[in-house]
Amino acid sequence: MSRQDTTEDFLNSLPELEEGKTFAFSCYPGVSCFNACCGNLHMMLTPYDVLRLRKGLNHDSKKFIHNHVDVSSTSGAGFPMAKLRMLDNAKRSCPFVCDEGCTVYENRPGACRTYPLGRASQMDSEGGMLEQLFVVQEPHCDGFKEKKEWTSSEWLKDQGLEEYNEINDRYMRIMTRARKAGVVLDEKKLNMVFLALYQIDNFMNFIKDMNVFSRLDVSEERQAAILSDEDACLEFAFDWVELIVLGSSENLKPKV
Ligand code: SF4
Ligand code: SF4
Repeated sequence: MSRQDTTEDFLNSLPELEEGKTFAFSCYPGVSCFNACCGNLHMMLTPYDVLRLRKGLNHDSKKFIHNHVDVSSTSGAGFPMAKLRMLDNAKRSCPFVCDEGCTVYENRPGACRTYPLGRASQMDSEGGMLEQLFVVQEPHCDGFKEKKEWTSSEWLKDQGLEEYNEINDRYMRIMTRARKAGVVLDEKKLNMVFLALYQIDNFMNFIKDMNVFSRLDVSEERQAAILSDEDACLEFAFDWVELIVLGSSENLKPKV
């Protein structure tokens, strides 16, 4: 089982880590298995993973996607999915691992931060998120032999996951609502969602070139932020995707 195999069935087979309960774990260059898990992964990248990695590497979207991403789409609604492409070597190594560890550590994907926990989230009836955390104890991982104890909250905070989970949950809610509404993206919408969520620099250009703000009720202050700050643009991109896929967005209204 790979460290990123956190499908719902797999997670449900593991013991839940309830709030307040602890697990013992440490991962650092001194562990005997250091780097052993940074390869042969099926790692889906969320829009925020892509943004963080791309910015950290100082790549534009075209270069990042060409070098590191395989694109597919979800079954059902057909949302785009981005998978980190492993190297074509015997270990199928992650492109970002080196002998000293992770070369993109500050911007490593949420899945790498979450391990050795697995996180399952689903939307409740009021649109909030329900979260369950599980310990994914794999036999090859010697990190579990270490003494440091963590609660789930301590681990999430230590790994900088709060902001990742908040942004990723936003996308999860849109996909869940689309699935429940029976939405199926046609090719044009799929391409638009991929542009908006996974290619923020190009989406900024699209907003300018197509004069998108002329049709939307967006304050001048927010317009300036969206066109100058990729994080603000990603937030806008979720509103935009909500509008074009679901027909309405709480945070983004067409001009009347
Ligand atoms: S991004 Fe970093 S932590 Fe994640 S698999 Fe690659 S090298 Fe390992
Ligand atoms: S301790 Fe676990 S997470 Fe860390 S390198 Fe070893 S296998 Fe990977």
